Amino acid sequence: MALDSKVPSGPISDKWINYKNHINLVNPANKRNIDIIVVGTGLAGSSAAATLAELGYNVKTFCFQDSPRRAHSIAAQGGINAAKNYQGDGDSTFRLFYDTIKGGDYRSREANVHRLAEVSTNIIDQCVMQGVPLAREYGGLLDNRSFGGTLVARTFYAKGQTGQQLLLGAYSAMNRQIGRGKIKSHARHEMLDLVVVDGKARGIIARDLVSGEIERHSAHAVVIASGGYGNVFFLSTYAMGSNATAAWKIHKKGAFFANPCYTQIHPTCIPVSGDHQSKLTLMSESLRNDGRIWVPAKLEDAKAIREGKKKPTDLSESERDYYLERRYPSFGNLAPRDISSRAAKERCDAGFGVNKTGEAVYLDFADAIQRYGKEQAFIKGLDANDAALIIKLGRAVVASKYGNLFQMYEKIVDEDPYTSPMMIYPAVHYTMGGTWVDYNLQTTIPGCFSIGESNFSDHGANRLGASALMQGLADGYFVLPYTIGDYLAPEIKTGPISTDLPEFVEAEKKVKEQIERFINNKGTKSVDYFHKKLGKIMWNNVGMARNAQGLNEAIEEIAALREEFYKEVIVPGTADSFNPELAKAGRVADFLELGELFAKDALHRNESCGGHFREEYQTEDGEAQRDDENFAYVAAWEYKGKPSDAVLHKEPLIYENIKLATRSYK
Ligand SMILES: Cc1cc2nc3c(=O)[nH]c(=O)nc-3n(C[C@H](O)[C@H](O)[C@H](O)COP(=O)(O)OP(=O)(O)OC[C@H]3O[C@@H](n4cnc5c(N)ncnc54)[C@H](O)[C@@H]3O)c2cc1C
Repeated sequence: MALDSKVPSGPISDKWINYKNHINLVNPANKRNIDIIVVGTGLAGSSAAATLAELGYNVKTFCFQDSPRRAHSIAAQGGINAAKNYQGDGDSTFRLFYDTIKGGDYRSREANVHRLAEVSTNIIDQCVMQGVPLAREYGGLLDNRSFGGTLVARTFYAKGQTGQQLLLGAYSAMNRQIGRGKIKSHARHEMLDLVVVDGKARGIIARDLVSGEIERHSAHAVVIASGGYGNVFFLSTYAMGSNATAAWKIHKKGAFFANPCYTQIHPTCIPVSGDHQSKLTLMSESLRNDGRIWVPAKLEDAKAIREGKKKPTDLSESERDYYLERRYPSFGNLAPRDISSRAAKERCDAGFGVNKTGEAVYLDFADAIQRYGKEQAFIKGLDANDAALIIKLGRAVVASKYGNLFQMYEKIVDEDPYTSPMMIYPAVHYTMGGTWVDYNLQTTIPGCFSIGESNFSDHGANRLGASALMQGLADGYFVLPYTIGDYLAPEIKTGPISTDLPEFVEAEKKVKEQIERFINNKGTKSVDYFHKKLGKIMWNNVGMARNAQGLNEAIEEIAALREEFYKEVIVPGTADSFNPELAKAGRVADFLELGELFAKDALHRNESCGGHFREEYQTEDGEAQRDDENFAYVAAWEYKGKPSDAVLHKEPLIYENIKLATRSYK
């Protein structure tokens, strides 16, 4: 089946403008007859819900947390990109567009990325207008910093809490509409199926997570904003509750799933310390603005450090290998995430790792403390030769920029990162793959839309730092609220949709059967037992480096694990009560299917690109080797009963404005 991406024709810079001018917006007076369900109230969902309600639609929101403001989006630390060029360093819409396409290793759709770059500047205006406390310089102007894969400073931030502050802005906008009666918010509700009537999305089946009650909700359109699926790896930097259920359920009802194997492994996370762990912690990429990454240059020093016989501060400059600066002199420590992660793995695999497990490298602020300290001494007319004073002044600057991140590190690792370098290692962090959507952000099911991290649309095979928040808010505030009008225009005559339709009855029955199956299963192993096992298969065979043999093994092992899960899982408690184990069982069941499709997708893509690194396809110096002739397409999978039977559809990626090139950050 040919995928219709609905990208308007014409020059790239006119596409969105022309689209907006010609868009079939629903008559404002009639919007009050139209209901929209938004599943997910992270940054994407909250901003969309608030804007849709402002436009006049009736909105119902759903989230599984006890409040929309607890969505995973609050974890976002480092910042949000926008092509404002406030620093006068040569930024522009085109440059953000270009950086994002290149950063994604030429595997994203040009038109969507250009639109993202265009609306990026509106996001900052919108958030400032809402009162989001974005960081400012001494003179009161908005401040910026740099993130990986760019040579300009375009990242707006709120210390290390950017996601939280942005979400408070979107949540306040949403609350205003709740107060007006335009949004009905359902917290602690989990969507467990999509209801499709005559080929159109017409509602959802949700479980009240407190009472256990199964509910039917109808609407003229359903928007999925359910976030990413990185917890398929069990250990990740995601919030513990993040899951794939909403996206996977719509996939099973007809929405194609695109590029499931494109996952981001973030280079700067606190390393795994043992088998007991259930969560990994990110150290924001913003730290790479000032921190320098290194390992010992000699194997014997690395060994001595691992054995506790030497400390990192014992090594002189010449005994250190600043491997990112060495390999990528122009981008240095700000090389993109996929490249930096692989470089860390390469050094650790070669025996240079610095913690007990051998899987850690250093992120060191000693130079930054000196540099800032001397600058402050100069500004304040103090003695630049007073070593203790320089350290004190320098630390104060570092603390003002990254204080909460340093505190977090110290609490978890019990080491002071101001005096000894942080230890970091790559970890699963973001999923670029997701539901396939057209230019309107509509899935292959009419009336079912997908926004934010749950869709595949903008980041290709690797996302640049600070661009997930940008995409979530672009989709929510500026894109979906307008594109959805195109679909909804003919719906003004439809009238209310009954939840007594047979499709609702049938979907509810299936949901109840699945719940009963879990509760009545008399197995012996916990849900976590299976989730951990799945995570290990994924990390070992489908993680940072993949090969055909490992992927084939993973496919077999996941299918076998899924079978064992249904025989052996035990879910305590009852169906009609608050039962977190039951909720988890449903999510892990979906991960056990998604994981297999993920590996299948990785196996079929016989090339390396961005975060998808196939060991068989690399250059002599270990860089990813793309195959544009055969793989310059979006892989969109259609569900056919089992992940192994999924059918591949290809959306060719046509580059008219950017020349396909080998990605280089040297
Ligand atoms: C530690 C960390 C730091 C990060 N820092 C940055 C950063 O500095 N800059 C940046 O750009 N990006 C960053 N990211 C990525 C970014 O935070 C996410 O990509 C983004 O917040 C996702 O937003 P979202 O609205 O799409 O989804 P989420 O915020 O994940 O929200 C998902 C919503 O869906 C709901 N939901 C899910 N399933 C269901 C269901 N079945 N039924 C009902 N509700 C459901 C949830 O309750 C939730 O409300 C970071 C990520 C992490 C993990």
